[in-house]
Amino acid sequence: MIIVMQFGAPTEAVDAVCRVIRSRGIDPLVMPGEDRLAIGIPASLSIEDREFLESVVGSMPEVSKVTQTSSPYKLASIEFHRDRTVVEAGPNKIQIGDGGFTVMAGPCSVESYEQFKSAAAIVKGSGAQVLRGGAFKPRTSPYSFQGLQLEGLKIIKQVGEETGLATISEVMSADMVDTVGQHVDILQIGARSMQNFPLLIEAGKSQLPVFLKRGPSATIDEFLLAAEYVLSQGNPRVILCERGVMPLDKTYTRNTLDLSAVPVLKAHTHLPVIVDPSHGTGVARYVAPMALAALVCGADGVMVEMHPDPMSALSDGSQALTPDKYSELTNRLAGLSRYMSETQA
Ligand code: PEP
Ligand code: MN
Repeated sequence: MIIVMQFGAPTEAVDAVCRVIRSRGIDPLVMPGEDRLAIGIPASLSIEDREFLESVVGSMPEVSKVTQTSSPYKLASIEFHRDRTVVEAGPNKIQIGDGGFTVMAGPCSVESYEQFKSAAAIVKGSGAQVLRGGAFKPRTSPYSFQGLQLEGLKIIKQVGEETGLATISEVMSADMVDTVGQHVDILQIGARSMQNFPLLIEAGKSQLPVFLKRGPSATIDEFLLAAEYVLSQGNPRVILCERGVMPLDKTYTRNTLDLSAVPVLKAHTHLPVIVDPSHGTGVARYVAPMALAALVCGADGVMVEMHPDPMSALSDGSQALTPDKYSELTNRLAGLSRYMSETQA
């Protein structure tokens, strides 16, 4: 952390800042500059001290600004954890983040055993590894379909066992972590819940793999600090998901898929990064190009919504791929993946 004093700040003001820093048992390093003086603080600062100095010193007289020189998240940061995290999940111990490309697919909502089983057969046939399906649905309107809830979870568990696919479903509240965790292999924390801190803590305590979606208006730091909540509970199994941020213009897409977040996250964290082009665009015909782009820009996989009959879907039908379009996409992903590894070799 660096504290920059205002131009011409008097010695008394600099001394006052140094006294406050010393009161926390920290040694300030005074660095006179040509026209401004800066005070350096060691990087090994605790989070409490960092927050204290930011708020107290930041508002002291003659202080121009307090800047961070290292990341506010420690466990999620690649600075402190050079090896990339690989998350193992499901009965077949699939590896997410091992350099391969994981496809997670399935309907937005579980609607019936038949619907989910038929989606699962398509997902399995395509060679994908993870079956998705919402049982508890976070809907903008309370009058929209809210999911089959407990019955939906039972269907997911049964179909997961029948197909051997790893399963993922959203948990919306801290008190449901146990129940959802008993039925699925990966806990999904939805975009709207990214800063539900009690939920992040419970998901951390569960020790299950946690698939954390980026909030629609979350910065990268906020996203990684949300991941830090899970990690700080001693659960290293965190998978990040970019699913689009608030768009400037909702006329054409539901969100703006921030694909630049992929290389940015890769530069700052060791956690695997998955892209969700379905919620990222909200339009079925834009899903394939964005999924292919996700592979090219270095994502560890994609999560896509696919419905056996999108026209009859109870949620997000307009962004769901048909089985045909889905299998066309998985073929193109496999071809592109091969091309990329051949040309890298
Ligand atoms: C979902 O995956 O079905 C979902 C609700 O996603 P998000 O939280 O990204 O909106
Ligand atoms: Mn959906």
